[in-house]
Amino acid sequence: MILEATPSVDNEINPWLSAAARFDEAAERLNLDEGLCKVLRTAALELTVNIPVQLDDGRLEVFTGYRVQHSIVRGPSKGGIRFAPDVTLDEVRALAAWMTWKCAVVNIPFGGAKGGIICDPRKMSRGELERLTRRYTAELANWLGPERDVPAPDVGTNEQTMAWVMDTYAMHLGQATTAVVTGKPIELGGSRGRKEATGRGVMICCDKALAKLGIKKQGCRVVIQGFGNVGSMAADLMHKSGYKIIGLADIGGALYNEKGLDVTKVMDWVYTQKKPLQDFPSGGTRMASPDVLFQPCEIAIPAAIENQITEKNASQVQAKILCEGANGPTTWQADAIIDSKGIFTVPDILGNAGGVTVSYFEWVQDRQGFFWRESEVNERLFDVMDNAFDEVVRFAGMHKVNNRIAAYMLAIDRVASALKLRGIYA
Ligand code: NAD
Repeated sequence: MILEATPSVDNEINPWLSAAARFDEAAERLNLDEGLCKVLRTAALELTVNIPVQLDDGRLEVFTGYRVQHSIVRGPSKGGIRFAPDVTLDEVRALAAWMTWKCAVVNIPFGGAKGGIICDPRKMSRGELERLTRRYTAELANWLGPERDVPAPDVGTNEQTMAWVMDTYAMHLGQATTAVVTGKPIELGGSRGRKEATGRGVMICCDKALAKLGIKKQGCRVVIQGFGNVGSMAADLMHKSGYKIIGLADIGGALYNEKGLDVTKVMDWVYTQKKPLQDFPSGGTRMASPDVLFQPCEIAIPAAIENQITEKNASQVQAKILCEGANGPTTWQADAIIDSKGIFTVPDILGNAGGVTVSYFEWVQDRQGFFWRESEVNERLFDVMDNAFDEVVRFAGMHKVNNRIAAYMLAIDRVASALKLRGIYA
């Protein structure tokens, strides 16, 4: 079923409706053919799997998982696997479509996909997570593959999860197939620089946005919501490069210190000592997680989950630059408010595209069986992000639209051109 594209306020937190609304606006501005619109707006394949897993106490539990392949027009579909209690099919649909547009914005030869399992990974043991991951992979094995659909980590999954996906797929095929998944440990064909890639991409976009607005980097105040892969890497790299990180948050709450936080020490506290972020000594003021995004600063980086900036709170954003590390952190209804405040937005499909870009490099390296130096990965990542940022800003100026709609227009135009060249197989 194709969902309607006019989200009401009640539907504000449905990410699929947010994604569809932006798609419709961009497609209309591009004057896209109605038939092409129908094809590009709809996911190509949607799978639901019910996964039986034996828990550590001997009980059997059934978990529901999804894999949505939105598009394979420009190449194999690509996209993460999310483990979270509130995963829905609409969310996975939206995330899959965003992957298509993201890969097209940075011009890498992938389509878009996403997967998710409704579960709470923080309440599951390592053994339970391994059995869940392996059975999910086995159920989907026919649809995955280096030339078909290539997963990666997302919220609640990590390098270890990807190692299990790779091993399960390889066992089914009877041959080592490292390129079936990205975000793997380096020992198993992962790429140098992948762990930092999304955060590095966020930083590159912030550097470019500052240059565009004529703001100095030294002492530039930054708040970041999300201290997982994306948020912690962005915080660490930006702290080391001279930004002043004044706010950090994860699911447990936020820390705010206008004098600046020592991110290296916070990293050690959270990742080495395994202590809660909010308990960091001399961290400053504690507050609820989303509140960190509404503090006075030059740059706000949502890097946790969807729907953090909504019609209700968008007017409270005080940043000059909103750089989206998370997917879908700003709802469709909040866009106009953010625009009216003159905030320079780096939309998710550009801001967090560093991750999929280095995933692409990982896939290339796996297929070549030849691995690059970290400096080479970072240099190539910079070139891709630098170019994509400039293209989006150029499109925004040319079509007199905001950066988000410009990014969608650039992406949709690329995918539509490829679809027209391929034609519709009948
Ligand atoms: P992660 O699981 O490593 O970290 C998620 C962070 O968000 C954690 O700090 C967690 O505490 C916090 N969080 C989770 N639920 C929250 C809630 N309800 N309220 C506040 N904070 C919450 O995940 P990640 O890989 O860093 O992904 C974060 C975002 O970035 C997601 O939107 C993801 O889709 C997007 N993204 C990730 C990558 C990547 O390479 N990992 C690439 C592109 C986009």
